[in-house]
Amino acid sequence: MPDPILQISALDARYGDFQALYGVDLTLGEGEVMAIIGANGAGKSTLLRSIAGLMANGPDQIVYRGRPIGALRADQIAGLGIALVPEGRQLFPSLSVEENLLIGGRVKRDGPWSLAAVYDLFPVLKDRRAQPSTSLSGGQQQMVAIGRALMANPDLILFDEISLGLAPIIIRSIYDALPGIVAGGMSAIIVEQDIAKALSVSSRVYCLQEGRVSLEGASCTVSREEISRAYFGIA
Ligand code: ATP
Repeated sequence: MPDPILQISALDARYGDFQALYGVDLTLGEGEVMAIIGANGAGKSTLLRSIAGLMANGPDQIVYRGRPIGALRADQIAGLGIALVPEGRQLFPSLSVEENLLIGGRVKRDGPWSLAAVYDLFPVLKDRRAQPSTSLSGGQQQMVAIGRALMANPDLILFDEISLGLAPIIIRSIYDALPGIVAGGMSAIIVEQDIAKALSVSSRVYCLQEGRVSLEGASCTVSREEISRAYFGIA
């Protein structure tokens, strides 16, 4: 495996009294694309939220390029090059497409991504750039959310439910864009409900079950039976 960009060890996460993650260990290599699968409520979003600095973590439980980041704020983590494409997109409804994209660019990092590069990736956004983000279709809004994350020129991008609720043709265009996104060496973690899709775009896969890692393996070699067991707890 390449050098790790991210190492997570014994990560717990709580919402008040409710514990959502239990002792999660995970290693992501530089330039690697990893998929995280698991049933509803398994803790996938919580894991991404922890990495992005949106949960209260222990300081040493998340290490990014050798630096403990568990106690940093979300804006500090973004500044180090980690960007989250959140579930439900979470665009600013009163702002235009372009204004939403420019918000991502407020994280001042050098790299290949700019407004022009995002518009090359998703040309429909250029045509719609002056429109309110809420006037776009769900799929187009997902493109804005991805573009906003790319505008920060991250080294690690976290996609939460990249294709949830989108039409198949839009899902295809978003997945078609993925190789171009990671071509420059960007690392990625993709939370995806569609297991076949998750396996096809990733080199390794983790499955979460009720807040615990129930499977870790190479995406090309894990079997259907292993996934069923890890996903549902049945053989
Ligand atoms: P889904 O695929 O449905 O999005 P998930 O695997 O991403 O699920 P999480 O959203 O991480 O799961 O949720 C993990 C657990 O934490 C669930 O039991 C959920 O109900 C709980 N949870 C999530 N957010 C909160 C919150 N803000 N307050 C309390 N509990 C929460």
